[in-house]
Amino acid sequence: MDKKFDLDAAIRKVPDFPKPGILFYDITSIFTNPPAYKYVIDEMLDRYKNAKVDGVIAIESRGFLLGSCFAVANGVPLVLARKKGKLPRRTVEMSYNLEYGSATLEIHEEDIELGRRWLIIDDLIATGGTLAAVAAMIEGKGGEIAGIFSIIGLPFLGFKEKVGKYNPITLIDYDGE
Ligand code: AMP
Repeated sequence: MDKKFDLDAAIRKVPDFPKPGILFYDITSIFTNPPAYKYVIDEMLDRYKNAKVDGVIAIESRGFLLGSCFAVANGVPLVLARKKGKLPRRTVEMSYNLEYGSATLEIHEEDIELGRRWLIIDDLIATGGTLAAVAAMIEGKGGEIAGIFSIIGLPFLGFKEKVGKYNPITLIDYDGE
């Protein structure tokens, strides 16, 4: 009766995107699939139902689509970690390396004071560099990390070494070929 949802089947895999050798996990196929999107949100809310979280940091852009649901459901502030140059007020920023390339994220500095224990949400954890950079921004301003959530984890890229101390939770993990 309570059959486990086949999340793997809902995730589109695109070889050689955005460059040769990368297998891209395209989660837009979750957002176009209402039962899949609902499953992911329900699971996320369930995993943290007893956690002490008083703010959410969502990472641009797919993290926004998870973080907003968490914030509304739990009545906590949602803070956007955006790509450099998008936020108008005073920011803290952090640069980091990706599985492919590098990037810089920013957060409005004053928003960090809205919460004490932050849950950081993104769609996928690969090397963990993105989430580690956001965690460092929060901790650098005196905030605490309540946890890290992502739909997908790629443990073979080493995220556990980088962000394991923040108890990352993923709904599905994939091995490298
Ligand atoms: P990382 O900082 O290495 O953990 O990379 C995580 C970020 O890069 C997330 O925002 C993902 O959306 C994106 N990303 C990295 N690798 C992949 C992949 N193989 N498929 C889809 N997205 C990826």
